[in-house]
Amino acid sequence: LVDTSYNRIKEVDDKVHAFLTLDEENAKAKAKELDNTKDQSQRLFGIPGGIKDNLVTKGIRTTCASQFLDNFDDPLYNATVVDKLNNEKAVTIGKLNMDEFAMGSSNENSSYTPTRNPWNTDHVPGGSSGGSAAAVAAGEILFALGSDTGGSIRQPAAFCGVVGLKPTYGLVSRFGLVAFASSLDQVGPITRNVEDNARVLEVIAGHDEMDSTSANIEIPSYTENLTKDVKGLKIAVPKEYLAEGVAPEVKESVLEALKVYESLGATWEEVSLPHSKYAVATYYLLSSSEASANLARFDGVRYGVRTENADNMIDMFKHSRSEGFGEEVKRRIMLGTFALSSGYYDAYYKKAQKVRTLIKNDFDKIFEDYDVVIGPTTPTPAFKVGENTDDPLTMYANDILTIPVNLAGVPGISLPCGFSENGLPIGLQIIGKYFDESTVYRVAHAYE
Ligand code: GLN
Repeated sequence: LVDTSYNRIKEVDDKVHAFLTLDEENAKAKAKELDNTKDQSQRLFGIPGGIKDNLVTKGIRTTCASQFLDNFDDPLYNATVVDKLNNEKAVTIGKLNMDEFAMGSSNENSSYTPTRNPWNTDHVPGGSSGGSAAAVAAGEILFALGSDTGGSIRQPAAFCGVVGLKPTYGLVSRFGLVAFASSLDQVGPITRNVEDNARVLEVIAGHDEMDSTSANIEIPSYTENLTKDVKGLKIAVPKEYLAEGVAPEVKESVLEALKVYESLGATWEEVSLPHSKYAVATYYLLSSSEASANLARFDGVRYGVRTENADNMIDMFKHSRSEGFGEEVKRRIMLGTFALSSGYYDAYYKKAQKVRTLIKNDFDKIFEDYDVVIGPTTPTPAFKVGENTDDPLTMYANDILTIPVNLAGVPGISLPCGFSENGLPIGLQIIGKYFDESTVYRVAHAYE
């Protein structure tokens, strides 16, 4: 499998650009060792996977697709999720391309090269985990880890026709995930089907002392419950998720999927998530505020490439940051610093926090009466490379259907539910109750 993986990468990755770093020698040595092992009972024994480049990997370069970390060749430790994969004998093939520091929806913010959509390389793969989704879709690896702060697993999964899950906030350890917005970030799996996804989540989920927001709960067997039927299941379909702005072909595919659920004995009703119209604004205020604080650590001293152009310490910080960060990252840092500054804090940051609670309450209320919420993952299929690059607001609006899930902290999955007229995949989003990944997977599997 590991050889097949590298062969496939050699065949297609100069067109897809999913990988930033390959770890071929070590991966092949590990595979050889595994071949000679008697006990092959570990849950991901010999399975080739890729890791988004914002997860720290011991001894493997970790850049967050930023020039600032271009020289971070030899991290000293593994993210907890990477250790967990290693414990189950998965093989890390390499590190996957992304939008710089996970800020973006198209992979065009990678400071190296944009990843392309394997279905049509004129189109974006989505972002920020675009490398993760594209590599799985192109058959380069069997699973990938991504991170999802405002849709970054589900949106690229939808654009690339694969399965991506954002777990409940706190289910998966964030230790070793380079922080973007700590109250929203979650690591999750991207795979070709629902069962594989559940298998990887079973391995990476669970309490971690190294992450103070990690939940101390028992992890059920997601795979065991997968094949139970969905008879009697109550589905909520928010009218805001099929409103204007959602492409007719996307809406149609979702309605077709709902018919499949009806035929399986489930019922669905239209509901309202009245505060979802504020989600994008709320998200960009809160995530940028948190990012401005989290990214303060990149100063050219503790981390990052140090400028050559400074004769004193303050200039050294300034120039290192000016030269190291890309345009979008700077935009977020400025937005966040502004929203947190005195005089604006109450008007912007504090108000956004209050709206976040309203958005969470919307979901809580729906989940009193329904088992899952279903809608599209994105308003449109993958757009063209360059189509939205000059217009950050249009780019941000792309996340309108994924962001509420992060703000509320609930789990959400995207799985393929058809194709657009021009042959690009469409994603179905299934949202569940807190820590009810079992139901989310079961409902996804029933459709698949
Ligand atoms: N596209 C969103 C952003 O740019 C989401 C990113 C993410 O989930 N990491 O912030």
